[in-house]
Amino acid sequence: MKTITSRILVIATTIVLVAACGQVMITGRKQMLLFSQGEITSLSNQAYTEIMGQSKLSSNTRHVRMVREVGQNITSAVERYVKANGFESSLEGMEWKFDVVESDQVNAFCLPNGNIVFYEGIMPITSTPDLVAVVMGHEIAHALAKHGNERMSQEVLVGAVGQAISAYIGTEDQKKQAIFQVAFGLGSQLGVMLPYSRKHEYEADRLGLIIMAMAGYDINVAPGFWEKMSAGKSGAPMEFFSTHPSDANRIKNIMAVLPEAAKYAPAK
Ligand SMILES: [Zn+2]
Repeated sequence: MKTITSRILVIATTIVLVAACGQVMITGRKQMLLFSQGEITSLSNQAYTEIMGQSKLSSNTRHVRMVREVGQNITSAVERYVKANGFESSLEGMEWKFDVVESDQVNAFCLPNGNIVFYEGIMPITSTPDLVAVVMGHEIAHALAKHGNERMSQEVLVGAVGQAISAYIGTEDQKKQAIFQVAFGLGSQLGVMLPYSRKHEYEADRLGLIIMAMAGYDINVAPGFWEKMSAGKSGAPMEFFSTHPSDANRIKNIMAVLPEAAKYAPAK
């Protein structure tokens, strides 16, 4: 019975695969997406409600205003660019939201529906709009590049989760929820997501700098920001930097994409 289920899953997966090739905007990288954006958005909405139910919104109005303003500026610039260049599918299912929550955690994350959360703990090191834009651009880039969907799809493809899920008794929705939680590490520790692969991190760095430039922010603060982080990472736990390891290669990669990103800046 179990093998039949697995075989059906394999067949179903193969069928879906044919129709589920995506392409990341600007970078042009082809990707495998097994879930519909509607499914991803609905799972992300559930996760957002759960995380926010256990969090307290920041009362620091200056921080909240700065984070929202940077988020809105970047997403407006992206929307203009996407419409002018035919990348509309990147925005499908995005429900942009920008929050700051009370927590000492040095962290920020973006759910695959475009809900972005900064923790108060990261605000001392993102003290200006340009520095907020470095983190914001990177997080928005993960969403635009559909890294969440790709990651869930990979979890299914590597088989381990696929088999566990196919054997798992539950509704289709419960199975998808389980894949979502495995893919993001949610459930173990709310709001602390598993690190993305190096490939996804580099792509989010590149795309993040490009969209930050589109919105007119100073991309030249980025290498210094990541260098500062790599210098300060031994010490208190810094969640953002444990899931975003900042090493010499990452900084070299960021330096290398600055000239490309600069071309997207609005003419002065
Ligand atoms: Zn990242």
